[in-house]
Amino acid sequence: MQRKQQEDPDCEVCLQGWEFSQELERLILANMPLWEISERMSTPLPAIHRHVDHVDGLTDQDRLLYQLDVNLSEAIGVKNRARASYAPKLELDALREVRALIDLKARILGEIKTRQEITIVEHPDFQRIRYNIMTALERYPEAKRAVVEELAAVRALPCAIETTS
Ligand SMILES: [Zn+2]
Repeated sequence: MQRKQQEDPDCEVCLQGWEFSQELERLILANMPLWEISERMSTPLPAIHRHVDHVDGLTDQDRLLYQLDVNLSEAIGVKNRARASYAPKLELDALREVRALIDLKARILGEIKTRQEITIVEHPDFQRIRYNIMTALERYPEAKRAVVEELAAVRALPCAIETTS
């Protein structure tokens, strides 16, 4: 088997050889958190994060989330060191950073979920069923209005129906 990307001479994981990097990639693609992979493979987190760029089959979103995880563990590290050395101002700054990163990650994950929901709404089967229901409800305007309202509430209506109802 051939790698798509050339081995990075500065990548600690690539330098460990094919078998090692394959095992590590298997864990990454199985969605194991990077810090857990770091412990299991006895490899520093930054090295694993660097190697994420060399793994085929990850989306840009995956890479972005891994980047956030790395930043998050760095910020938590700063917070813990600040607490240990009684530096409350630094600890508070680091805590704000941790909170901002968690918030950002939650928003990105929320956006991914919203997009998946939109994909379902755009599915031809769903559109056909919705069309059949709307057609059947033509004779029952009150029931139709109620269904339209419910679907609009979960953003499952095409704009055309929403505006003509
Ligand atoms: Zn690598």
